[in-house]
Amino acid sequence: YCKMTGRNNRLFYSPKMNNMYNDILFMEGELRKALYNDEFELFYQPQLDVATGEVTGLEALIRWPHKEKGNIPPSDFIPLAEETGLIVQLGEWVIKKACRQHVEWVDKGHNPIKIAVNVSAVELQRYDFADKVATIIEETNMNPTYLEIEITENSVMQNTEDCIQTMKALQKMGVSLSIDDFGTGYSSFGYLRKFPINYLKIDQSFVKNALEESSSAEIIKAMIQLAHTFGLKVVAEGVEEQPILDLLQQQQCDYYQGYFFSKPIPSNDLEKLLYNQRAV
Ligand code: C2E
Ligand code: MG
Ligand code: MG
Ligand code: MG
Repeated sequence: YCKMTGRNNRLFYSPKMNNMYNDILFMEGELRKALYNDEFELFYQPQLDVATGEVTGLEALIRWPHKEKGNIPPSDFIPLAEETGLIVQLGEWVIKKACRQHVEWVDKGHNPIKIAVNVSAVELQRYDFADKVATIIEETNMNPTYLEIEITENSVMQNTEDCIQTMKALQKMGVSLSIDDFGTGYSSFGYLRKFPINYLKIDQSFVKNALEESSSAEIIKAMIQLAHTFGLKVVAEGVEEQPILDLLQQQQCDYYQGYFFSKPIPSNDLEKLLYNQRAV
């Protein structure tokens, strides 16, 4: 039995799990060090208007270039950061970094576009999350109307009333909200009405299969229609080929992102890429 509790940062384990325990403890230490030494990076993936092909936004995605282990993907360390509570500091770092980068681009004379950051349930459920965001916005001089916060369905379902208050506070500041990986969580359409959100991001699993599986294409179509009924804009994730983009255009999806246009890339590459579009 091995259970980690994020609440008091204590680890329980049995001798059987000794290796796993050591690995986890080691990685936790590495995470702390990396935070302290400012070793994380943000990559940026463009989001485009389906109808016009214009770049309208970016998603910031964390990267951990590790000296011995190479590039560690977020799926390998975000869960640990969540379990240990380190995600709170890490998440603050992400929002700050994204805001600073945005302000730097605007100061250089680029047209501002939206920048989206991913926020974990653990962060969203902190009583002071909205205040923290407000402080970062003030400190960095970020225009909050360009900041977007991505949360997953499940993270709102855990503590719904408090989360809704936090989300409302964020929207009041001008920040917009997206539901990420839509369709993979509780997927109750009822909350689309209840939650203060601006965007739905259709999970890549539906998008990738849309050509082979008519059910995926039908689900996408239904999601778009429903979102539009509630006045939400739709972003399709994981678009890798032209035929998928054609399908999304037919179904009047609003925005897309994916390898078809660009993978997530470092800030200087992104700047070069967008220079011609005169965005950011
Ligand atoms: P996500 O927010 O759903 O991000 C989309 C993921 O899909 C990213 O993986 C991105 O690189 C990948 N992707 C984008 N387009 C394509 C495509 O066309 N094909 C394929 N196969 N993949 C595509 P990444 O960067 O590895 O991030 C994985 C997840 O880690 C994210 O999923 C998000 O849940 C989490 N994450 C990333 N950065 C952060 C962060 O700063 N904070 C938190 N809390 N979570 C983060
Ligand atoms: Mg996301
Ligand atoms: Mg997603
Ligand atoms: Mg995700």
